[in-house]
Amino acid sequence: MRPAQFQKAVLDWFDQYGRTNLPWQQDIGAYPVWVSEIMLQQTQVSTVIPYFERFMQRFASVYDLAEAPLDEVLHHWTGLGYYARARNLHKTAQIVVNDLHGQFPDTVAQLTELPGIGRSTAGAISSIAFKNQATILDGNVKRVLARFSATEGWPGKRDVVEKLWLIAETYTPHQRIADYTQAMMDLGATLCTRSSPNCSECPLITDCSAYRQGNPQDYPGKKAKKKLPVKTAYFLMLSNNHGELLLQQNPPVGLWGGLWVFPQCETDTELADTCLRLGVQPGTEEILDVRRHTFSHFHLDFQPVRASVVNPEQSVSEVAESPNQVWYNPQNPLSLGMPAPIKALFENIA
Ligand code: SF4
Repeated sequence: MRPAQFQKAVLDWFDQYGRTNLPWQQDIGAYPVWVSEIMLQQTQVSTVIPYFERFMQRFASVYDLAEAPLDEVLHHWTGLGYYARARNLHKTAQIVVNDLHGQFPDTVAQLTELPGIGRSTAGAISSIAFKNQATILDGNVKRVLARFSATEGWPGKRDVVEKLWLIAETYTPHQRIADYTQAMMDLGATLCTRSSPNCSECPLITDCSAYRQGNPQDYPGKKAKKKLPVKTAYFLMLSNNHGELLLQQNPPVGLWGGLWVFPQCETDTELADTCLRLGVQPGTEEILDVRRHTFSHFHLDFQPVRASVVNPEQSVSEVAESPNQVWYNPQNPLSLGMPAPIKALFENIA
């Protein structure tokens, strides 16, 4: 299919079926487009919408975001996962405000210099917000193009993704670039879905190689499966006599970086030492069921252990002196960023 035909088929389909009511499409500008694109990485539109709306209510401009404490940004991200995205969002807002007079750059080359903005996200911002002829290749578009061209191999591999970039660039139009970008994302999200592509409704059906072969689901190729290792941890849910639970903030970089979590140790023999280090004496312990949280590179099997501290008043003053520890009242919560498993534990004990 020639590029002009491909573009016409995609844009005609978009005019009839494309999504135009998404909250970040209402008042298009670099800031909302950027926030939405970062949220949409690895996350579906339906999940992102309420997060985006709350986020924009609180951080209405790049200036509001740059000035806000990181903790509050992480708090608004709680539940979305991949928290490095939120930390980079905050860093980039500060760079845009402090070094770029509050203006986002408009080219892919300049945008990719900002933290957290990769080539595809830069292409989306440049094409949607600035109407530049820039190309995207997010997960949805990779799937459409891998099927359309029957490109073999896992797109995590450099040679495979480079092939797909070349195809994506070949088809990127000069005209109606913002609509085309949105159309390609919509095609992948609504028709050319991972497990059940709706080929009969697809504007590319006549020239789709995977459709002709009868095996769209075989594309894109999968990563060779590796068994994930399992790590274990104990989460100490220590409560004082005000019903508050002790939380600690992780260092800014690393797993759950900057987020608030329960004190942890790897084995049950370390529980007593951990309490000693915290300056608390636990009363009777209640061991809860093991839960699993899966990261991209390992499973974490964690066992929550609940205990009241028997020296609460002393503990309250001791831990209050540390900026990275807090007695957290679930009835009157502070705006703290927490990973989803910690939030779920609070919901369970509510
Ligand atoms: S014809 Fe089917 S497999 Fe090919 S791009 Fe369209 S929906 Fe995807």
